[in-house]
Amino acid sequence: EVKREGRGNVHNYDSTLLVEQERRLNINQALRRAVQGNEFYLAYQPVVRAKDGAITSYEVLLRWSSAELGAITPDEFIPIAEESAQIVEIGEWVLREACATLNSWQDISPTTKVAVNVSIRQIVVPNFARMVEGILRETGVPANRLILEVTESIFDQRQIILIADVLSVLHDMGIEVHIDDFGTGYSSLSRLHQIRVDAVKIDKSFVLKMDENARVVIEGAILIAHRFGLNVIAEGVETDQQRAELAGMGVDAYQGYFFARPAKGPCLDPHWQAKKSSV
Ligand code: C2E
Ligand code: MG
Ligand code: MG
Ligand code: MG
Repeated sequence: EVKREGRGNVHNYDSTLLVEQERRLNINQALRRAVQGNEFYLAYQPVVRAKDGAITSYEVLLRWSSAELGAITPDEFIPIAEESAQIVEIGEWVLREACATLNSWQDISPTTKVAVNVSIRQIVVPNFARMVEGILRETGVPANRLILEVTESIFDQRQIILIADVLSVLHDMGIEVHIDDFGTGYSSLSRLHQIRVDAVKIDKSFVLKMDENARVVIEGAILIAHRFGLNVIAEGVETDQQRAELAGMGVDAYQGYFFARPAKGPCLDPHWQAKKSSV
């Protein structure tokens, strides 16, 4: 119930908290029916290679249009799904759907990959690697066309040994592993050698800011990643100016609205050729 005026900030604060808690609870409940109710769909955003402008992969981004609550962004519902462990079932649906869809895209190159985000909650479930292997077999997608993106926060986990183990099994299967949201955590640069990865994705917050501090982080990340033999992908590239600056720093690939927004299918933008030749 809405608090009457004149009772001070404490009550306003309390009621804000209550509203937030209720929202989380409603999302948690609505999520339980989302997979069965076909409320999820996937959006795909191209990752563009710096040296020739080719699309090498598409990142798979989950979209939810809830029957009860309307459209909800992943930044809001993924943390709730992670907390309630529903991400395990949802993540499996995403992987299967992404692999099946890749197979149905006749008009893209046979080497283009899909990059699927996976939560720590999923990786630590026993037999995660076997589940992934099963979906690849079921859908007929070769392991070397799948990329799994894990956030940098894996380095903060007590289960880092287990996580590193699972990632190395996946890597040995031929699946690429990319570190997402790179630069947002602590001391991960020095710990990159602890797990077998193929690339790091610089968090979009640095690309969007591009102030002196952001430049230091981006340049440092590129230097260290390249020393470890890893590719560097920059997210959140919205302008040609950002693209040019990142090119000068030696980034290997770009992702962002400048090239294409996430869409329901492969990128067939007629302006694509023009952008491609500017790379
Ligand atoms: P992420 O993995 O770092 O994905 C990149 C996010 O940046 C996406 O947000 C994408 O739409 C957005 N983006 C791409 N280009 C630009 C740009 O030029 N400018 C700006 N401002 N943003 C750009 P989205 O789709 O809202 O997803 C947010 C986060 O939700 C993802 O961040 C990822 O952590 C999580 N997520 C999305 N789908 C899944 C999923 O299937 N499973 C899991 N576990 N997490 C997911
Ligand atoms: Mg990602
Ligand atoms: Mg990211
Ligand atoms: Mg992110």
